[in-house]
Amino acid sequence: MPAALAPEVLAKYEPVIGLEVHVQLLTATKAFCGCANHFGSAPNTNICPVCLGLPGALPVLNGKAVEFATLAALAIGCQVRERSIFARKNYFYPDLPKGYQISQFDKPIAEHGFIEVPAADGAVKRIGITRLHMEEDAGKSLHDGFADSATRTYLDLNRCGTPLIEIVSEPDIRTADEAFEYLTRLKEILLYTGVSDCNMEEGSLRCDANVSVRLKGADKFGTKAEVKNVNSFRFVRAALEYEIERQIEVIESGGRVMQESRLWNSAEGRTYSMRTKEQAHDYRYFPEPDLPPLIVSAAFLAETAKKLPELPEARRARMIAEYDLNTQDAFTLTASREFADRFEAAARTARNPRRVANVLLSEVGGRLKALGLEQEQSPVSMTGIVQAADLLDEGKISSKQLKQLFDVCFEKAEDFPAVYDREKPQQIIDVSAIEAMIDEVIRANPKQVEHYRAGKKTVAGFFVGQVMKASRGQANPALLNELVVKKLDG
Ligand code: ADP
Ligand code: ZN
Ligand code: MG
Repeated sequence: MPAALAPEVLAKYEPVIGLEVHVQLLTATKAFCGCANHFGSAPNTNICPVCLGLPGALPVLNGKAVEFATLAALAIGCQVRERSIFARKNYFYPDLPKGYQISQFDKPIAEHGFIEVPAADGAVKRIGITRLHMEEDAGKSLHDGFADSATRTYLDLNRCGTPLIEIVSEPDIRTADEAFEYLTRLKEILLYTGVSDCNMEEGSLRCDANVSVRLKGADKFGTKAEVKNVNSFRFVRAALEYEIERQIEVIESGGRVMQESRLWNSAEGRTYSMRTKEQAHDYRYFPEPDLPPLIVSAAFLAETAKKLPELPEARRARMIAEYDLNTQDAFTLTASREFADRFEAAARTARNPRRVANVLLSEVGGRLKALGLEQEQSPVSMTGIVQAADLLDEGKISSKQLKQLFDVCFEKAEDFPAVYDREKPQQIIDVSAIEAMIDEVIRANPKQVEHYRAGKKTVAGFFVGQVMKASRGQANPALLNELVVKKLDG
């Protein structure tokens, strides 16, 4: 751990961060052969001469992988190149039987995109995306889990040839928190487009974090280190925080930051040097002779653009206006595209869609949160929420009764319609009974009556609340509202 640096020392420096994110595409088959692209199969079962690189085997590009790469590129505002080139990235590694990965080098499929993140001052900041390119994955070395793991490494080549996209950001990120936001937004966009499951545990999304520091106001970037093997966004943030301090300490103690790759060790909460610039690979990129240039026609681009869903940020903005939400609630409702779709489909069938949002967020969301449950574990279905919202809207139940019904739903793990049918809450619909209660509240609160009659019409809500309380939540809300106004006006 670097010694704790004084805040005024840290404040002299500005971190510069750029992220490289690898994402596995959710295609049925691999990038250049017909093998299943499937996680969790028995080792070395999804392999063939092409993905093993046996002599004479020829790659054939998977059209679905091109569609997904194009879709992802459009979703992050990239320009898609009409003609891109596959290249061989040569290196030796036991889990790379071909001796090279098919990737893209100087002519990637897409460039010049951006992702917007909230900046520290509350404004929106654009992080540039340099490029998005297509490539294939390598296999996997299994270093432990076997009886003889101390002396042997096993290979599972199922992952060889898995289609990937790599998304490279500009060095526009300035804090570890911004890096975390960038990754969160990127993952959300990719999930919405459906091109990947972005499952970090299974390795479908991997991140390398490049970071340097410079004195504030300096016009040149400092020397960067690349932190590899970071398998959660929280760890990316922690690794960056560690690395920023480490580099500042090196400079402050008169040293120079080395250009190197470093490994994050999450158990120890620090990074270790892995290889220096001298040991860096020279990949000897050259155009892949077995594949023609990739042509993305204007027609294909237009077809693919039609498949773009409404993206999370735009959806939140629309839903905030449509359902009268605050930002936090908009994030809750758009947490996944599937959930947002289910919510909106249900809300459209209700008398008042805003009320559906309200019941969902306050009654269901609140209880789930208190119990530490996920949305999928809710006993109340969307249909149940719509019924509850409609009953409330029609004044057939009071909000107090609604709360009581939801309490039962969560106690007994039952959906709302069943509970409502059984409990059919009592309602006072007798006009004279309600009027008697209103009279009493009016008598007890002459000041409020004065306010109302002086023009402060919102005071009516106070009387409704008081009577509702007196009736233990059983006064018919629609009737009560009507009678209160009549009494106060009359
Ligand atoms: P390399 O040649 O080492 O692969 P690139 O220029 O291709 O470096 O950049 C790789 C990633 O590192 C990009 O995300 C880029 O934004 C970022 N990056 C480049 N230079 C710096 C720097 N000085 N400090 C921090 N990040 C950087
Ligand atoms: Zn294969
Ligand atoms: Mg590079």
